[in-house]
Amino acid sequence: MSFTPTLCRPGCAACCVVVSISETIPGLGGPKPAGVRCPHLTPENLCELFGLPERPKVCSSYGATRELCGERNEEAWQRHTEWERLTTPD
Ligand code: SF4
Ligand code: SF4
Repeated sequence: MSFTPTLCRPGCAACCVVVSISETIPGLGGPKPAGVRCPHLTPENLCELFGLPERPKVCSSYGATRELCGERNEEAWQRHTEWERLTTPD
């Protein structure tokens, strides 16, 4: 499956909550489980580590795609939920 890059919508945050992150998240002491809100999300759903060296590499390299992010935040949450389900080993 190929993905088409698109612009991230600040404040969406689906990828910072819905999906699991295997890299250690500062302040969390380990990986982030799926469905857990990253502790570095601000009340406005922005990343407080954006641009800082502490930001996990997987986050810096993750890009918004039309297929996973859709056109609206609701679509992003639904599609990331489905993506997480499909890529989680039994
Ligand atoms: S799910 Fe997509 S649009 Fe939403 S914050 Fe993540 S990259 Fe941006
Ligand atoms: S560190 Fe930032 S980009 Fe990564 S999951 Fe947390 S809030 Fe999202």
